[in-house]
Amino acid sequence: MTKMKPCPLQKRCGGCQYQGIPYEEQLKKKEAWVRGLMGKYCKVHPIAGMDEPYHYRNKVHAAFRTDKKGNIISGVYEEGTHRLVPVETCIIEDQLADEIIGTIRKLAKSFKMQTYNEDTGYGLLRHVLVKRGFATGQVMVVIVTGSPVFPSRNNFVKALVKAHPEITTIIHNINDKRTSMVLGDREKVMYGKGYIEDILCGKKFRISAKSFYQINPVQTEVLYGKAIEAAGFTGKEYVIDAYCGIGTIGMIASDHVDAVIGVELNKDAVRDAIGNAKGNKVSNIRFVAGDAGQFMVGMAAEAKRDKSIRLPDVVLMDPPRAGSDKAFLSSMVKMGPEKVVYVSCNPETLARDVDWLEKNGYKAQGVWPVDMFPHTGHCEAVTLLTKTRGKQK
Ligand code: SAH
Repeated sequence: MTKMKPCPLQKRCGGCQYQGIPYEEQLKKKEAWVRGLMGKYCKVHPIAGMDEPYHYRNKVHAAFRTDKKGNIISGVYEEGTHRLVPVETCIIEDQLADEIIGTIRKLAKSFKMQTYNEDTGYGLLRHVLVKRGFATGQVMVVIVTGSPVFPSRNNFVKALVKAHPEITTIIHNINDKRTSMVLGDREKVMYGKGYIEDILCGKKFRISAKSFYQINPVQTEVLYGKAIEAAGFTGKEYVIDAYCGIGTIGMIASDHVDAVIGVELNKDAVRDAIGNAKGNKVSNIRFVAGDAGQFMVGMAAEAKRDKSIRLPDVVLMDPPRAGSDKAFLSSMVKMGPEKVVYVSCNPETLARDVDWLEKNGYKAQGVWPVDMFPHTGHCEAVTLLTKTRGKQK
């Protein structure tokens, strides 16, 4: 590993809680955290860290503001506030993304584009989001404005692509609501296809502006590898990929199982997932748009009425930070999959859900922590649970 990189914004930004702590120590802290929460259930394996834990973020977001001197600044909000900390470079963000955001600051000035004012609701430029497919080199720029107008948009797009020919698509997103959400509902493609692609575990995935995609692709391959290994597929399984995003985990599992059904709330992500199945010629996977909990409740009820309904042998689940919910967990237990592979980005909610599953017919067999977010206090983990009771109570 290269020498620890110091961060000039360490004190104000707050994005990297473990900033300044040697990387090896960060890994030990995270492993101990997971062990503290999960050790009482099962073995906690050594954490998988990164060889080069810098500039790993393939998605970079910057909010825009005009400072008191009239300069356009962009960066992140100081933790817990709406005060903007200007960011020009960052040790975890993709460097090209930061350069593109710097160019947009300059272009906004020369095009006399006003930045959005959160207090008054006036102004135009609110946020920029850059997503980059590390394996394909494709780059998406999303420009979020506070109103639908985009003066000199063609010239703006031309100037941006000229400065960064690596950009493959530019999207204009309109967010005119008083909200802390970055993206609004409406978007127009200004340049290119409107999505980017990336390659993970040998499969190609398209990613839209609003679809979730793991932010550290190097470690995502490690994470998915652990999940597939933990599941120990034989080729015969019927698998649910719950909270599936653009279908990555299920699509990677599809080679090793009989059939997969993915469920995901975000409609754009489901559209990407369906396109991804076609693009990769995966024919044993399908997707359902909706709440994962409701989907499980529906499937369990249908299976109760109709005994010929095929029940899942394995559930792969990867909920957001809040974890899963009782509707999901209790219906899953009713359907009684032999194995549950729980991919979690929050050890606290993981432990809460595993605790419930342990009281309801499952036994945790092992946890594999993966450092997806070096220098931050976050930790990802894969947990394997197996069934201890008979099916269909
Ligand atoms: N497994 C995917 C996505 C994980 S992130 C991957 O590895 O890329 C969690 C996903 O859950 C997001 O795509 C989010 O849109 C989705 N989600 C959040 N709440 C949900 C719910 N109640 N039901 C279904 N999906 C949900």
